[in-house]
Amino acid sequence: MCPFSALTLKKDGEVIELADIQIVKENVVPKLEFEAKKITSYDGIERVVKQYTDGEISIVDEECPGGCQTCYEVCPSGAISVPEKSDKGWETVPNVVVDPEKCISCGSCDNGCPTGAVKLKITDVKTSGEFSELFWEPLLVRLKTLRWSEKEEKEE
Ligand code: SF4
Ligand code: SF4
Repeated sequence: MCPFSALTLKKDGEVIELADIQIVKENVVPKLEFEAKKITSYDGIERVVKQYTDGEISIVDEECPGGCQTCYEVCPSGAISVPEKSDKGWETVPNVVVDPEKCISCGSCDNGCPTGAVKLKITDVKTSGEFSELFWEPLLVRLKTLRWSEKEEKEE
């Protein structure tokens, strides 16, 4: 489900096509679907990526000390911005802001944030076709929760 198609599956040095894996061929897992999306990172690099999941990003501003900008720099789609601070004492400006329209639910910000202030909740994994509920449902739970902030919450 890498949005950049950067991963190749190999066994004993030989490339394996996903369609040739037995659990895929026998419809134990569904076919993964994606939406092609054109994105632009904060430094202006444009890419067409595959969005396999939908999700909701939330930022707990109180948990963000501000100033590190990791989420802003790792976001491949320019969805995160760091607003200018106001010189008016009565105006509250958040440390970081997310544009949900640009987000591709990749999870980089969630995994990269050192304080756990950014949380991605995967709400849907795009699939089609038949599958074995017994096998796929626990996998789906793992896919939805393999995020740094989710792990932290479970350990608490
Ligand atoms: S999950 Fe985070 S890093 Fe990924 S596109 Fe959305 S806002 Fe950017
Ligand atoms: S990575 Fe986390 S701590 Fe750093 S600016 Fe983003 S939300 Fe704040």
